[in-house]
Amino acid sequence: MSNWSHRHVLDLAAFSLADYATVLELAQRFRAMPVAGARKLPALQGRLMTSLFFEPSTRTRSSFELAAKRLSADVQSFSPSSSSLSKGESILDTARTYVAMGANVLVVRHRCAGVPQGLARDLDQAGESVAVLNAGDGLRSHPSQGLLDLFTLARHFNPELPTPEALRGKRIVIVGDVLHSRVARSNLWALTACGAQVVLCGPATLLPDAFSGFVDAPPPGLAADPVAQRGPIQVVRSLEEALPGADAVMTLRLQKERMHQHLLTSLDRYHQLYGLTHQRLALCGKPVPVLHPGPVNRGVELAGSLLDDPATSLVEEQVRNGIPIRMALLYLLAAKGASA
Ligand code: ASP
Repeated sequence: MSNWSHRHVLDLAAFSLADYATVLELAQRFRAMPVAGARKLPALQGRLMTSLFFEPSTRTRSSFELAAKRLSADVQSFSPSSSSLSKGESILDTARTYVAMGANVLVVRHRCAGVPQGLARDLDQAGESVAVLNAGDGLRSHPSQGLLDLFTLARHFNPELPTPEALRGKRIVIVGDVLHSRVARSNLWALTACGAQVVLCGPATLLPDAFSGFVDAPPPGLAADPVAQRGPIQVVRSLEEALPGADAVMTLRLQKERMHQHLLTSLDRYHQLYGLTHQRLALCGKPVPVLHPGPVNRGVELAGSLLDDPATSLVEEQVRNGIPIRMALLYLLAAKGASA
């Protein structure tokens, strides 16, 4: 844990290979511990996590709250509709109000890219010692989802030792609405850092060619890439080209709330071309797991029978793994100075 240097977790672009290893190792330890009910860990006793969600969430918010409780932190959450935001209070002043109440970690989700990053910068400048954890900003970044996907894949490939090395050389296909997906962007940073070969698949309206160069320049805000050598990214247009030889397939939700034009001819046509079914999956040439960050549009991104097939679908496993991953992140950001 000695190499951990992040005050905030905003973007996986800033993660080194050692950072991924640290988070995965801690998550594996937390996952193995019975930490519910009376057996909660005392690590964050006396610490306060505040969730500030300006955009809806089912999984991420409850998973962060459960993770914090399992580490004995106090938990507070904010609802934009019933808050003073509607009276004109700024996001920074809202955040500072919670810091004044003692928040040690702010878990922030916003529909605009850059809000958690801006908040972290402004709070740092104001001399506040609170940590900001990005729980999803627009289409830019969703670090805890990228990490839980990485953990799920690493556990699939090497259940006893789910380290970043478990991903090296694996062919991971990501199919769907890459353009609007912060999950895809976070996965691109994480998977390429671990040496996986990523194949992106989708129609040109949802997957511009430029994504093949996504990790080629230094990450935003950094002078150099913290990872020396990354795995390659390939962009293909058909599942018939993408699937042969795949080791895992990750499907993405069509982000209708972020599509401001007609980018698809019809949902039926999308399912015909890019929807995953048992039959399509056979193109991989061996049994491979299927992931989806949720919420799923059943019968669009993936057939209901595939989603419900425990031999193939890792979707519920992703949800389960979200808790130890978020425990690891909260622990790394907030354990120092906790009362226990
Ligand atoms: N739950 C994920 C997110 O917040 C994925 C999705 O909404 O499609 O980005």
